[in-house]
Amino acid sequence: MQIIYNWHITERCNYSCKYCFAKWNKAAETEIYEDYEKVEKILTNLSQKETISKLIGKEVTSVRLNFAGGEPLMLKKGVFSKIVIKAKEMGFVTSLITNGSLLKSCPDILKYLDMVGISIDSLDEAVCLDIGRCSNKNYISKEKLENIIDTIKSSNHKIRLKFNVVVSKYNYNMNIVEQLQAYEPNRLKILRQLPFNGEEGITDAQFELFLSINRKSLEKENVVIENKNDIIQSYLMIDPQGRFFQNGNEKAYCYSDPIYDVGLEQAFSQIKFDKEKFMSRYNQ
Ligand code: SF4
Repeated sequence: MQIIYNWHITERCNYSCKYCFAKWNKAAETEIYEDYEKVEKILTNLSQKETISKLIGKEVTSVRLNFAGGEPLMLKKGVFSKIVIKAKEMGFVTSLITNGSLLKSCPDILKYLDMVGISIDSLDEAVCLDIGRCSNKNYISKEKLENIIDTIKSSNHKIRLKFNVVVSKYNYNMNIVEQLQAYEPNRLKILRQLPFNGEEGITDAQFELFLSINRKSLEKENVVIENKNDIIQSYLMIDPQGRFFQNGNEKAYCYSDPIYDVGLEQAFSQIKFDKEKFMSRYNQ
């Protein structure tokens, strides 16, 4: 099976979505991405297939490292590409989740990625501005998205394309999936916004309404739908300080010690992880 680590390598972002869950309110200086020694230690630990196989009780044959944020492309260009290239050299399958707005300024990174995921909740200006999914009122319109997809595909024709859609109070009554399916993504994930940090989530009825409005386009094989319970404790997430962190508590995350300090085995034992939920997400 393939294990997937989501490394939220920075919390900095040029967007300011109101429901953003990647907020630690830490100064950028506490992020470890510029400390290459720590980064290398994390990569070495995460690459240990035997250790993680033992920890989850199932043979891991490949490891995907998904760079998330914040917006990972906010990192200094040379610094981020060095980490991605190193991960690729070490045998990781590499992927990136991005809001897409900075991709055109750093297309070189795409050569080292196996998959790029763009988070898109709406292509409508008013909705994007309402969410805060914009920078100085610049949002990803349909035309911009098409441009971004062209850049992605022309930079790496083998790359897999993914969309993440967060269903929140801002878009639960909209038809967005059909528009995104038109770009033939390899994967399209629908995530229900979780209540966190004072931001309320949506009701069951609102989520059901979204699913019913988008039903036809959701019936395809590339779609994964994640309701509240599917998301809780089912991801292996690493924070910008190099610690595992886990959701499940609406007020705060729980954390392990830094992986570069205590190693994979000890850090993993300090957080909860529901491997059954993880495996059912990827049909493993
Ligand atoms: S684009 Fe992503 S990381 Fe940035 S504010 Fe929005 S949800 Fe948070």
